[in-house]
Amino acid sequence: LKDGDPLEEHQITVAVRKRPLNKKEQGKREIDVITIPKRNTMYVHEPRTKVDLTKFLENQNFRFDYAFDETCHNELVYKYTARPLVQTIFEGGMATCFAYGQTGSGKTHTMGGDFQGKSQDCAKGIYAMVAKDVFVYTKNPKYRNLNLQVSASFFEIYGGKVFDLLNSKTKLRVLEDGKNVVQVVGLQERVCQNVDDVLRLISLGSQVRTSGQTAANNQSSRSHAVFQIILRNLDRIEKQGDKAYKLHGKFSLIDLAGNERGADVSSANRQTRMEGAEINKSLLALKECIRALGRRGAHLPFRASKLTQVLRDSFIGDKSRTCMIAMISPGMNCCEHTLNTLRYADRVKEL
Ligand code: ADP
Ligand code: MG
Repeated sequence: LKDGDPLEEHQITVAVRKRPLNKKEQGKREIDVITIPKRNTMYVHEPRTKVDLTKFLENQNFRFDYAFDETCHNELVYKYTARPLVQTIFEGGMATCFAYGQTGSGKTHTMGGDFQGKSQDCAKGIYAMVAKDVFVYTKNPKYRNLNLQVSASFFEIYGGKVFDLLNSKTKLRVLEDGKNVVQVVGLQERVCQNVDDVLRLISLGSQVRTSGQTAANNQSSRSHAVFQIILRNLDRIEKQGDKAYKLHGKFSLIDLAGNERGADVSSANRQTRMEGAEINKSLLALKECIRALGRRGAHLPFRASKLTQVLRDSFIGDKSRTCMIAMISPGMNCCEHTLNTLRYADRVKEL
C-alpha cells in the first residue's frame, strides 16, 4: 500500500487486511494463498483439488477501497479506515467500524490490540487510537467551544443477549420506545478525562470478555464486542431523559463474532447450533443495514438481530459513516472462509 490521503468522502469504506502466517502455520509449511498486487486488489489462489496444488489454482480477483498486506501495521490500517471517521462524531454524526472475519484472522488484534494483562497492551489497537484522536479533537479550537464530554461503554452480544463488559458481564435489557429509540437499560457509560482513562476501560472490558475462557471453549469467537466512544454536550440536557446530557456523536467499534461460526447451524450440539443461527442472522442483517446506508429510502432490517437493533441510531441519518475491515487468514487451509469473507465484504460495498 502506497502512502496517500484516505478517501475522505466515502460513506461506506470497505478494507481487507491479511495477517502474516503465524509460527504454527509456518511450522506446518502452510501455503500463503493471498496476494495483494495493488493497494485495492487482492487475489485468492483457490486450490480446486487437494492433489496437485500448483496446477489447479483458480485465481479470484476482488477490489476494495483498501487492501492491506501482512506488512501493514495497525496504525496504517487505522489511518485509512477509522481515522477519517473521527471528525464525523465531532460534526454531530454517528460513526461505526466493524472488524469482520473468521476466528484467528486478526479482528481483536486490530481493534483491541493484543491484550496480555496490561492496559498499555491496548494502546496499539484501533479502539485506543480513536480515543487518542478524540482527545486531540476536543482541544481543537473548532470544537473546543462545544463543551463536549467524552465517555465510553463496552458490551458484548452473545446468543442475542447483551452483557456489560464494564460491569462484570451483567445482563442488560434492550428497550425500544414508540419513537424507535433503542436503549440498553443500565449500560455503564464511564466519563473519561484522557486516553489513559479509556485504556483502562478497554483493558477492563477485554479482561472481562476473555475471563474463564479456554482454547476449547472460545466464547469470545461467538460474541460481538461493541466498544463505544460517546460525546455529550455538557451545555444541553436531554428533554425527556433524567438529567442526561444531550448526545452529540458516537463512535461504535465492533469486534464481530467469527463468521465461520455461522456454519455451526449444522452442529449436533443444540446450544452451538442456536448460537450459529443467531450469528448468521446478525451478520446478514448487518450487511443489509450497511448497504442501506448508501441508498436513500432503503429498508433497514435493524430489528432482525440484537446487534443491528442496538446499533440502529448509527445506521440512520445523513451524517452516519461506516467502515468495515474484513480480516483474512493467509493459509490455504482457510481458503473457504477467506472466500466467504471476501464475498461478504464485496456485497457490503456493491450498490
Ligand atoms: P480474532 O480476534 O479474529 O479471532 P486475533 O486478533 O485474536 O483473531 O488474532 C489471532 C492471533 O494472530 C493473535 O495471536 C494475534 O496476535 C495474531 N495476529 C493477528 N493479526 C496479526 C497481524 N496483522 N500481525 C501479527 N499478528 C497478528
Ligand atoms: Mg477475537
